[in-house]
Amino acid sequence: MNLVFEHITLGQRVLFGTGQAADNLAQEVERLNAQRVMLIAAETEQELAATVAAKISPVVEYNNVVMHVPVEVAQEARSVAQDNKVDLLVCVGGGSTTGLAKAIAMETRMPIVAVPTTYAGSEATNVWGLTEAARKTTGVDDAVLPTTVIYDADLTMTLPVELSVASGLNGMAHCIDSLWGPRVDPINQALAVEGIRALAEGLPAIVDDAQDVTGREQLLYGAYLSAVAFASAGSGMHHKICHVLGGTFNLPHAQTHATVLAYVLAFNMDAAPEAAAKIASAFGSDDALAGLQRLRERLDAPRKLADYGFTEDGIGEAVEVALPAIPANNPRTVTEENLTDLLRAALHGEDPAQLRQRSS
Ligand code: NAD
Repeated sequence: MNLVFEHITLGQRVLFGTGQAADNLAQEVERLNAQRVMLIAAETEQELAATVAAKISPVVEYNNVVMHVPVEVAQEARSVAQDNKVDLLVCVGGGSTTGLAKAIAMETRMPIVAVPTTYAGSEATNVWGLTEAARKTTGVDDAVLPTTVIYDADLTMTLPVELSVASGLNGMAHCIDSLWGPRVDPINQALAVEGIRALAEGLPAIVDDAQDVTGREQLLYGAYLSAVAFASAGSGMHHKICHVLGGTFNLPHAQTHATVLAYVLAFNMDAAPEAAAKIASAFGSDDALAGLQRLRERLDAPRKLADYGFTEDGIGEAVEVALPAIPANNPRTVTEENLTDLLRAALHGEDPAQLRQRSS
């Protein structure tokens, strides 16, 4: 069959080097001729931010970072940026911190240099997210895509192993969901497959030794690929579900993704044999779900949504909000009944293989 597709590659500079973040940031600030930097980092990320910003002089620092970016916080941070006549936003931290920088950039068009310290991947997407009245809204705007991303594995050494596992599986979810995303194409599929391979290599390494630099580098590399693939392919079924669980039920982002992924894969894979074969090969396995589950067991990955505050009572509302958002090109047709079944399985940590059997 002929290859016919449209693919957009987003323009972004990536500087990757362990122990080089401070130098790379100073170089970028100079290259961009920025005079008034706003440094954004959560309270818990202050130390990392100080290391990264050691060779620049920000005019203002901001640390009121809240997960899923409540609109009031975004508004306050924007005012601080404007009052201080900021010309460059530098964010050091996880996806929540990057998300706040994006919320400022969205209105002010200020450029961002992002220095990620988790594997969430927000730094490589043009997607913003805001939460208001328990509803999370996301949108796409190239103005929120960081101009530059600076990756430095040293900054991830303090990320606890449990959170590293959940965050790495969040990256894995970007990859797997990209394989049937609404704008899936051969380029984003190739990036996603390499992302799965890198994450599957890095995760066991850091579970064995949290300070393993090579493992941490593989994870950052994989997280970047996962986000580029995701930004290109768009949100598939997995992201639409997790988006509701985070925005409406305030479940923790990475752990929710890490849990739901196995169920969405189990649900979709037999209706998407080509994607499933690519996932399996990236895991070095004969079967995509077996490959993912073997890795999850090795990592002692998050198992059930009940551990993160989700309950039976929430399933009806979650289905109601998520169902209309699931892309029409999802490999398997999603109904109120089968989505309820999937969420119940994820809530209780049922063996995903059983959901797979019921779905086929
Ligand atoms: P997070 O940013 O909330 O970080 C989780 C916790 O880890 C925080 O307490 C943080 O301070 C701490 N932390 C971060 N780095 C650390 C380090 N190196 N050492 C020790 N502690 C560290 O969580 P997250 O999972 O990175 O990001 C989740 C948010 O990102 C969600 O709001 C999600 O919607 C958003 N997100 C957006 C996109 C996008 O494309 N727009 C993509 C992925 C995630």
